Amino acid sequence: MTATDHEPAIPLVDLKAQYAALRPEVDIALAAAVERADYILGSEVQQFETEFAAYCGTRFAVGCGNGTDALYLALRALAVGPGDEVILPAMTFAATAVAVVQAGGKPVLVDIDPHTALIDPDLIEAAVTPRTKVICPVHLYGQCLPMEPILAIARKYGLAVVEDAAQAHGASSSKANNSQRAGSMGDIGCFSFYPGKNLGAYGDGGCLTTNRPELANRLKSLRNLGSLVKYHHEEPAPNSRLDTIQAAVLRVKLPRLDAWNQARRQHARRYDEALHGLPGITFPNYDQAGNYHLYVIRTQERDAVVGRLNRAGIGAGIHYPFAIHQLQAFRAIIPGRFPVAEAWAATCLSLPIYPELPENAAARVAKILGKTGE
Ligand SMILES: *Cc1c(COP(=O)(O)O)cnc(C)c1O
Repeated sequence: MTATDHEPAIPLVDLKAQYAALRPEVDIALAAAVERADYILGSEVQQFETEFAAYCGTRFAVGCGNGTDALYLALRALAVGPGDEVILPAMTFAATAVAVVQAGGKPVLVDIDPHTALIDPDLIEAAVTPRTKVICPVHLYGQCLPMEPILAIARKYGLAVVEDAAQAHGASSSKANNSQRAGSMGDIGCFSFYPGKNLGAYGDGGCLTTNRPELANRLKSLRNLGSLVKYHHEEPAPNSRLDTIQAAVLRVKLPRLDAWNQARRQHARRYDEALHGLPGITFPNYDQAGNYHLYVIRTQERDAVVGRLNRAGIGAGIHYPFAIHQLQAFRAIIPGRFPVAEAWAATCLSLPIYPELPENAAARVAKILGKTGE
């Protein structure tokens, strides 16, 4: 066999490549945090919160344990409780709906736009009832929703808006005609630092952003067993803090995030060009101002395509194989059909994308996808 028969494998995401590039700085930051021994709510947590708020363009950021907790804490801070309805898209990661149930609320789904997989803003108003308290749009795949139409509905009915920006660090919307970033436009923005996200920790981590001082204070208490002053507990709340060690890692990474997102956009352009016109393949109508957390195409022959990619050493993912109402966890409590989300779940396919992706990845993938239907 010749060398060309052994092209290197391309995983769906490659966390080791990033660590290799950051190693000297990360190792110093970790050693310093360990040495200082301020493991819980140490100085790096506050510094990261200040820097992340500045990055997002909000007045405040409050670190927490993970992205799911961020959503839960946001709903608690907005007083969502039993009987309160929260509107969210039918296609998202399960965590968005889990957090609503955890807070005691009722998830009310809205179907998605078939061109983007994002919540269809034109369907939101019909889902509003007298019990609706919050709209929770999700900037899925790192595409930032144009928020103005959603904020207008919220204003009209007196609702709060929680942005699930768990996949959208640094994304903005070119349609909104300004450079406001995901997580800075609603009442509260929720972020995840799960290792595979565009800004990933070395374990679990999350953050909430807001411009409202009273919400920032409430969130600081809610993440810390309902306490702002040691041993004074105002309400029962979880222990969900961002570790100092994770904050130290995130502080090394944050200054690189824009360059990484830019690299992802370039990889996306290469995919767009290489895959354009291939029969049986459709793309989301991606907004170039997004952060390309995922690059998702659709094909009716998904199983065959995944098999062919994997045999060539190329990873693929499915985000997500089920719409929320199709999950065992929610079937009993969410009736109805959401046909666009169901069709998306049956046909979506995520291709490898990360800043260090090899430049020939798009060409290799296109060659394999071109064989669809043979
Ligand atoms: C990752 C993710 C979450 C949850 O974040 P965790 O840190 O894994 O708890 C929530 N919503 C969306 C859309 C996500 O992608």
